[in-house]
Amino acid sequence: MPLPQCDRPPTPQEAADLRERYRAERERRVRPEGPGQYRSTDAEFGWFAADPYAGDVADRAPLHDVVDVAVVGGGFGGILAGARLREQGVATVRVVEQGGDFGGTWYWNRYPGIHCDIESHVYLPMLDETGYVPEWKYAPGEEIRRHAMRIAERSGLYEHALFSTAVTALTWDESAGQWIVATDRGDTFRATHVVTATGTLTEPKLPGIPGIEDFRGHTFHTSRWDYGYTGGGPDGGLVGLADKRVGVVGTGATGVQVVPMLAADAGHLYVFQRTPSSVDVRGQRRTTPGDVGADRPGWSAERRENFLRIVSGEQAERDLVADGWTASASLLEKLLPSFRRDGEPDFEAAYEAADHATMNRIRARVAAEVTDAATAAALQPWYRYACKRPTFSDTYLPAFNRDNVTLVDTADAHGIERMTERGVVVDGTEYALDCLVFATGFSVGVSGVTSGRLPVTGRGGVPLLHAWARGGPRTVHGFTSHGFPNLIRMGSLQNASSVNFTHVLDEQAVHAAALIAAALAEDAVLEPTPEAEDAWLDVCARDAPDHEAFHAECTPGYYNREGRGRPNGPTAYPHGAVAFHELLRDWRAKHLGKLLRSPGKP
Ligand code: NDP
Repeated sequence: MPLPQCDRPPTPQEAADLRERYRAERERRVRPEGPGQYRSTDAEFGWFAADPYAGDVADRAPLHDVVDVAVVGGGFGGILAGARLREQGVATVRVVEQGGDFGGTWYWNRYPGIHCDIESHVYLPMLDETGYVPEWKYAPGEEIRRHAMRIAERSGLYEHALFSTAVTALTWDESAGQWIVATDRGDTFRATHVVTATGTLTEPKLPGIPGIEDFRGHTFHTSRWDYGYTGGGPDGGLVGLADKRVGVVGTGATGVQVVPMLAADAGHLYVFQRTPSSVDVRGQRRTTPGDVGADRPGWSAERRENFLRIVSGEQAERDLVADGWTASASLLEKLLPSFRRDGEPDFEAAYEAADHATMNRIRARVAAEVTDAATAAALQPWYRYACKRPTFSDTYLPAFNRDNVTLVDTADAHGIERMTERGVVVDGTEYALDCLVFATGFSVGVSGVTSGRLPVTGRGGVPLLHAWARGGPRTVHGFTSHGFPNLIRMGSLQNASSVNFTHVLDEQAVHAAALIAAALAEDAVLEPTPEAEDAWLDVCARDAPDHEAFHAECTPGYYNREGRGRPNGPTAYPHGAVAFHELLRDWRAKHLGKLLRSPGKP
């Protein structure tokens, strides 16, 4: 199909042709098993999920003491909860973390090329408080991990933290008014309050490819990179791959970052692609404190609020970040409930026209950067912008111009067909490999609490998932639930989200800390009434956006449960993160008043 010009909205005929092309590509790609096509890394494939970074884990005696607050998870959610609790003067905060240190996603993901594609000056939390100013527009993973550790250090969280430890059960002891926290290291300590911050990208997944266990070459998931085999580090220098035939499965945000690094060092690289990502301009560059206004107090909070407003579809006088996210902000409407314009006259037509123009530009970029015409055609994404997570790279597309890189498009075969002892089979052709890297992502949004892997038992011995089984999850503001006293969940359920998730987590942490500090000060139990839950569910349901039709027509992926659609209903606060944060601030001022210290004041 010829590309319509990208500097103007498509004509009606071009738009109709695009719709038809998108429909055909979706049909080609959809698989009847939906999310069932994946398998987890932890059952027969436990070694896929083992911690390659912790070294030898030292023995320690199990703990049976009492703390004020137990925080489950040492990623940014847990760190920020801990930091904000310490600011409120809470004495003993114990973070329990499966990894060998703080960092969460950034602890586990250390693959070559890892960066965050959200601007570092808005992504890294507590820059104002720590005085740290990143030097690059997009920070490398190691810098982000170090910053996570910096916040933990500054907040004194190392003192009570437990690493290489998984919480295995949370049980409310009514008579003592405490939670009993059990772990896989034999601990059964008690906590007056519990915060669960178990993350959204914690469970790596693998494709359920027949024969995957037969492969005799080396293999690992990108979130458990084996530098012992590849050599080098996150900045490259993978000398161990110089004479190797390397395959990578997956071309999502991780694949787009890792492919250029593998291409630079592998003897030969085969990129097994099922759906191409949209790859927009990255614009990585060094920045000075002056560039980002870091000489003024509060600069970082102001910048991240500006970013949040723009990606939430609001008008702002200035676009401080001015990158690919803010440029395409209007196209995120179908992804994040936000500033609602659906239903306005002509909204859908204007939205589609802008979408087509953006995707045409992205497809034209592929044609301009990739010299081989067949490879360029296979790398062009044919779906609407918000169907798949957008990616940004200036090195990914040129990697396919190298002689040692082969793109293997698997869309017609619905992905990799099977694996053998020697390699990967696509459409009847076997590709012999020494090493296969799975950049196949995570069970997004699934965490220990919602999957049942971490059983939570509340008042009267009622498990949380039983309490939610009939009518669905019930919360107030997404944080607290009736029957589960002194328990706060962090995450996006019945809460608000954004592409800059650390901002959302920080607002949640401030709120969680305020609730807990107030409850401790008044010796009160933190538990909503069923009526308060009903009222919050009503708020979430009343104006819930109807994006089902849009996502039902999208190419499959985790945004639409692999083509099965995106559930409507009260899964999120419907007016977006900006309004939600205001609502929380107002609520605190009204209900908690002078009991609390302002965030940021240790
Ligand atoms: P994704 O789930 O986004 O991508 C998985 C990839 O594996 C897709 O390309 C998928 O193809 C492919 N795949 C799955 N099964 C098969 C198969 N059987 N045959 C061939 N290909 C297959 O995982 P990522 O690790 O890329 O991203 C995970 C999360 O991490 C995302 O939420 C992402 O936003 C986030 N992330 C954020 C970054 C940042 O800078 N902020 C950087 C990296 C990741 P298909 O599309 O056809 O399903």
